[in-house]
Amino acid sequence: MIPFLDLKAINAQYRDELVAACTRVIDSGWYIGGKELEKFEQHFAAYCETQYAIGVANGLDALILTLRAWKELGKLQEGDEVIVPSNTYIASILAITQNNLKPVLVEPDRATFNINPQKIEEAITTRTRVILPVHLYGQLAAMPEIIAIAKKYNLLVLEDSAQAHGAEIKSIKAGNWGDASGFSFYPGKNLGALGDAGAITTNDSELANMLKAIRNYGSHEKYKNLVLGVNSRLDEIQAAILNVKLKYLDQETQYRRQIADLYLKEIQNPLIELPLSKDPQTYTQHVWHLFVIQTRHREKLQKYLTEHEVQTLIHYPIPPHKQPAYEEWNDLNLPISEQIHAEVLSLPIGPTLSINQARKVAQLCNGFQI
Ligand SMILES: *Cc1c(COP(=O)(O)O)cnc(C)c1O
Repeated sequence: MIPFLDLKAINAQYRDELVAACTRVIDSGWYIGGKELEKFEQHFAAYCETQYAIGVANGLDALILTLRAWKELGKLQEGDEVIVPSNTYIASILAITQNNLKPVLVEPDRATFNINPQKIEEAITTRTRVILPVHLYGQLAAMPEIIAIAKKYNLLVLEDSAQAHGAEIKSIKAGNWGDASGFSFYPGKNLGALGDAGAITTNDSELANMLKAIRNYGSHEKYKNLVLGVNSRLDEIQAAILNVKLKYLDQETQYRRQIADLYLKEIQNPLIELPLSKDPQTYTQHVWHLFVIQTRHREKLQKYLTEHEVQTLIHYPIPPHKQPAYEEWNDLNLPISEQIHAEVLSLPIGPTLSINQARKVAQLCNGFQI
């Protein structure tokens, strides 16, 4: 079987360094809020070219706590509207509703899967305060346009960069476009820990300070609680692991690009629509967290690939507005998102998929018939 993503093989590449890093932490006697976290925050901020990175427990918390911090800082009030793409992983939207803010779902551009900037402008009301673009599948949303709209209407921008570590437009990285950005280091992400972890990047020192308090019981100073906080910390073991893996991120991204190039060149089947085949300029900045094709015959194609020993996944089968958890939106009409969710299929891609395996996947795709 060609696996969709072989996490065991990915981490085995760095096994000795990872074991050494964990051993260092075990022997240090210091497990929360120490040198490894400090180092990771500095290095990850440097990687994103931002002033600050604040480690938290996971990617969802990175988004939730940023919105929460803006409420504490008086920039947001409950009931304010947040514009968010209608095709995204549920976490982007949970971050909004968990803060008692109101998500306003905006349709994507079918070619890029990312939020359509023209439609953002149409969705702005007097209660809009934030745009929350998601860099889906590893490609930045149309950030130059989104930032221009945010400036024009005086809105905050929170990037969901959970799938886009290192992705760029015009040499500006994910995490350095908005007022703040949430990252996930879930094991399967392009930069993955061996457990849960996340971070926020920002150039705003006031926000960074508030986030550091909120993640730690609302306390800037031990036993003094300025605001109501939570426990959402990135522990030393995970930080030490991330310090090892961050060094290899660009190399792994380059390899993902090689696989994506191979798929884009070699898959030629009128039944299969390739990602961004029309715009060779944008995909070079893509970090290919996922390689997502579209087809009207998804169930058949997935079954055929499984029968030929290729594992594929669907990101995502049900759009957020059709989820039972968001019953109040089940009747919304969002045809582009619904079509995307019905037709997408993610092919194997990752730093340990061999070129021969990728070639085999491409050949199988070419042999698919209905
Ligand atoms: C993974 C992911 C998250 C959440 O990250 P966790 O670390 O799993 O909490 C948020 N948004 C998007 C788009 C994601 O892919």
